[in-house]
Amino acid sequence: MGVQASRLFEFKFKKTRCKIDNRVTSCWESGIYAYGRFAENKDKIEEGDMSAKEMDRREFLRSSATGLGAFVFLLPASQRAGLAKEAQQRDPKNYPQRVLGKTGIRLPAITMGVMNSDNPSLIRAALDAGMMHLDTAHAYMRGRNEEAVGEVIKGRPRDSFFLSTKVGLPKDETTGIYDQSATEAAFLSRLDISLKRLGLDYVDILYHHNVWKKEAVLYEPIMNAMAKAKKAGKVRFTGISTHRNEPEAILTAVDSHFYDVVLTAYNFRQKHQEEVKKAIARAAEAGLGVVGMKAMGGSPQSNYGRGREPEEARVGLKWVLQDANVHMVIAGFTTFDQLEMDVKIMQDMSLTKREKAYLQKAISMTSLYCQGCEKCLGSCLQKLPIPDLMRAYMYLYGYRNIGAAQDLLLSLHLPANVCNDCETCPVGCPSGFPVAKKIADLIRLRDVPPEFIA
Ligand code: SF4
Ligand code: SF4
Repeated sequence: MGVQASRLFEFKFKKTRCKIDNRVTSCWESGIYAYGRFAENKDKIEEGDMSAKEMDRREFLRSSATGLGAFVFLLPASQRAGLAKEAQQRDPKNYPQRVLGKTGIRLPAITMGVMNSDNPSLIRAALDAGMMHLDTAHAYMRGRNEEAVGEVIKGRPRDSFFLSTKVGLPKDETTGIYDQSATEAAFLSRLDISLKRLGLDYVDILYHHNVWKKEAVLYEPIMNAMAKAKKAGKVRFTGISTHRNEPEAILTAVDSHFYDVVLTAYNFRQKHQEEVKKAIARAAEAGLGVVGMKAMGGSPQSNYGRGREPEEARVGLKWVLQDANVHMVIAGFTTFDQLEMDVKIMQDMSLTKREKAYLQKAISMTSLYCQGCEKCLGSCLQKLPIPDLMRAYMYLYGYRNIGAAQDLLLSLHLPANVCNDCETCPVGCPSGFPVAKKIADLIRLRDVPPEFIA
């Protein structure tokens, strides 16, 4: 019987323990760790052959070459030494670690933002590679994201990983402010659902999801709910997440003396990066943990691993990590090549001369990143939440995450006839976005049945 892609399959080759789980193979030998995709020729590996009698080395290497893609074990001694060194470098103890403010949590500088992947094998590989921390959210993939994380962490010692999730409630997406329908009970109910999906009694960090206005950061029903959850032991630390008007949100969180962590968009493309930098510095000085996201500023991650030098991704992550007030960056990788690259970045986070030159060039390149400056809001005749629409557009064409784009689009409760009544569009965008054109393109996604978007 050939190996089924969806089930766990363990085997031993010589003294190497290996497993194939959902098309991902992991092997350990004397501290050497390797992983790769089990892609083709999967019926070359027979369950009985592999577990009962050891596979012939030549056959195994042939399978590796044709079917196991990135496998690099069972090599001559000299190459093994190189691998052992690499394995040692992969040890989280050898990754640069920073302390997340007053939480005291020490974590690798880059960990996994799970948002764009519900592949348990990739999430598992991130933990096995020593990333130690996973960031998800109640709303991601309508719950499938938390469920995938729950599947991976099931059975792992609770002190071997850190888990962050985010809970938010509907608000006016143009003003960013809650109304009375956003209640403490609704927030706590969502948290309980998240804990159930994750299979956990508590999360390490609970973020108040996606806030950018002072009034929202300080919205009492949600702060009360978070305080109750903390008291009940369901949450160790509380935070906010923000990717628009970040300085106001961060500084409000600092001054509230309530939150422990801020998760903020921060990248080399932000025109207001100096203000974000200053707000981050104040947060760190006040003892808050600072986590960076959107480090690539809208660069398509899909550039990774396609034979092109993935300068944007690498440079973006490194740029954020140059700021010592950022304690960790969550990277939204979706492939094993990207994971590999992020691990490599941690081995040398300095910007090379070439990367610095690229950075200079990239700043002026067109990107999908909406600055969230809100200069478009006043002139839109339908008062559409344009920054969110542009973010959904970036999810669609930058991240290639159709589900996230549709989820965000549907959460905005747009009118039926978006843009149809306008003869011309008076909206101007300093970033040069053809706003109406992008909305017309994006809005088609609203009519796609969600079950078509897995
Ligand atoms: S004006 Fe342009 S960059 Fe600014 S928020 Fe609107 S769409 Fe984004
Ligand atoms: S065309 Fe669309 S974006 Fe432009 S003003 Fe009209 S509703 Fe707003």
